[in-house]
Amino acid sequence: MLLQKQMIGDHYDRLAEGGHKVVYTFVPGNLNELVRSFGLLPVLPEINALQSGMRKLSAEYIAEAEKQGHSEDVCTYVKCDIGMLKKGNIGPTGKPLPKPDLLLLSYTGCFTFMKWFELLRSEFGDVPVAMLHVPYQANGRIEPHQRQYVVDQLRNEVIPKLEQVSGRPFDVQKLRDMLALSAQAEDDLVWVLESAKNRPSPIDAYFGGVYYIGPIFSAFRGTPEAVDYYRTLRAEVEARLAAGAGPITPDGPMTREKVRLVVEGPPNWTSFREFWRMFSEEDAVVVASTYTKVGGLYDRGFRHDPAHPLETLADYCLGCYTNLNLPTRVELIERYIRDYRADGFLINSVKSCNSFSVGQLLMLRQIEERTGVPGAFIESDLVDPRYFSAANIKNRIESYLQMLDQKRGAAA
Ligand code: SF4
Repeated sequence: MLLQKQMIGDHYDRLAEGGHKVVYTFVPGNLNELVRSFGLLPVLPEINALQSGMRKLSAEYIAEAEKQGHSEDVCTYVKCDIGMLKKGNIGPTGKPLPKPDLLLLSYTGCFTFMKWFELLRSEFGDVPVAMLHVPYQANGRIEPHQRQYVVDQLRNEVIPKLEQVSGRPFDVQKLRDMLALSAQAEDDLVWVLESAKNRPSPIDAYFGGVYYIGPIFSAFRGTPEAVDYYRTLRAEVEARLAAGAGPITPDGPMTREKVRLVVEGPPNWTSFREFWRMFSEEDAVVVASTYTKVGGLYDRGFRHDPAHPLETLADYCLGCYTNLNLPTRVELIERYIRDYRADGFLINSVKSCNSFSVGQLLMLRQIEERTGVPGAFIESDLVDPRYFSAANIKNRIESYLQMLDQKRGAAA
């Protein structure tokens, strides 16, 4: 946790120092290796929003955006970002963010991405835009023509824009080298996430998982820093596993694992630790989550492949969680419940995040039917503190965990 905080803080410092051209782009479908192979630095608006949420800055930014006419139903990441911009584009660490030299829109299933960049384009004026249209995985698999369609856009639209903005020619060897580093870090990340199959789990794969995905889902995929980070993380988790230790919680190590859960949906950031405590105080550990797959679904076997640099970037984008259809998502959660031997699963539904929340009640019913495991449904928000009702959520979680306990007691 400390190391990733340091890395992310250092990245904001580098951005504030100036002297680098920057590309604004989104987490799902980010082309970090490609962007950095041109010597450009990424700025990820969702990371700005969630970091602002964790630092209690988002309420003011959202109020500012609503004052400008953005409706209550709009994704609160967007409003947080727009509010931040209106107040001077000072990043979450208190340092100024540079203006974009390019808006690189990888469209991976969330329509909001498109509207968000339309707003940024009108705010920043004359900024070049590159759009990568990633087709939805409607059939639950990547078709060869879809891969080719994305590769063609990379070749004909995205790379020429990156060349133009950076003033450098495309260097495929540099990209291959970075992709090889990505695959190393991805191997270690998957090992860490899968360590939760053990009993007790040495990690929390949702609340703790947020710190595990930080570097690889933000600015560091494809860098030696990411490789070092995941090697260090793996060594730490290996030691916990060897000692039979449980995960770290906001109040120290968990000494008794009582309940194992799978969680679907993004977390709430404005009351992140309070939310985490609602689970950890009940000795409930999250053993798998879908949110920790939002910037890349590596546990299904995908790795960035330096031998096929553009095809692998296409597959990465096509395989993003936000780009998967509902049957695939249901199947994924079902698999997590079985493989991680979970006692229950919980959906944290964020109404303003359409790409996660659409269909979640249907998913709940289908997963219950397929696994026989009862699910729970709560509602909160990403970065709008008005929609985190602590007493209600705590009440629901406690009742659900009691129900699971009684169910297990009856079965014993
Ligand atoms: S709606 Fe959800 S997936 Fe889309 S930008 Fe907002 S938080 Fe991200």
